[in-house]
Amino acid sequence: MSCHNCSQPQVLCSSERLFLQPLWDRVRSWEALILSPFFPVLFSITTYVGFCLPFVVLDVLCCRAPALRRYKIHPDFSPSARQLLPCLWQTLYQHVTFVFPVTLLQWARSPALLPHEAPELLLLLQHVLLCLLLFDTEFFVWHLLHHKVPWLYRTFHKVHHQNPSSFALATQYLSVWELFSLGVFDMVNVTLLGCHPLTALTFHVLNIWLSVEDHSGYNFPWSTHRLVPFGWYGGVAHHDLHHSHFNCNFAPYFTHWDKILGTLRPASVPVR
Ligand SMILES: [Zn+2]
Ligand SMILES: [Zn+2]
Repeated sequence: MSCHNCSQPQVLCSSERLFLQPLWDRVRSWEALILSPFFPVLFSITTYVGFCLPFVVLDVLCCRAPALRRYKIHPDFSPSARQLLPCLWQTLYQHVTFVFPVTLLQWARSPALLPHEAPELLLLLQHVLLCLLLFDTEFFVWHLLHHKVPWLYRTFHKVHHQNPSSFALATQYLSVWELFSLGVFDMVNVTLLGCHPLTALTFHVLNIWLSVEDHSGYNFPWSTHRLVPFGWYGGVAHHDLHHSHFNCNFAPYFTHWDKILGTLRPASVPVR
């Protein structure tokens, strides 16, 4: 007897896989779009802008609802249109001019196929966590190097530090080299671990969300660093300190590498 979803013998179709199969079947109904060469760029831009928009709206509302300012790390700062628009323009420009040709080449070299079966839930969670830890490590090394070597800082990373009080749309205000490095770290881990496409999509979405949250300037009671125990996760409060002090908190998400190398500056920003 075989499973109606994946034509595997039913004993092989674990309950964990069945749990994600309806979601994966729904994703696969968009197969033509997902396998098109335009998908990576469209997916990346829409996810990024979609995550940034609520924070842009909050920044506008802050002027009319001062109570919202209690959640801001810098209560008196709201980005102006002159700060927001160049950031948005740069993201669109770089994705169309640089990211799209690279993904097009990759698509032409090896057009992908989507498997019929969903991944097991536990394996998906393990792979996403591993991808996050590896990405955190790779970016920590890259980031530390680009602060310690003045030429690397001036040439490639300084542009990201142009806004001392960060805001969501400043997340991808990066040099092309930094954008490519982040893209390579993102893709390499997924490939090395042999992740299922649904796992890769989940990791990409989570990675974009966490990077936007890091730069949002909002320290909510539900911010990720408040949900992860034992101070393992630095998040927005830590990354904001990096933007204001330059010499600390080089890891984008977790705190262990900064602890080990003595570059951790604890954040103490209460929710007022
Ligand atoms: Zn930096
Ligand atoms: Zn940053």
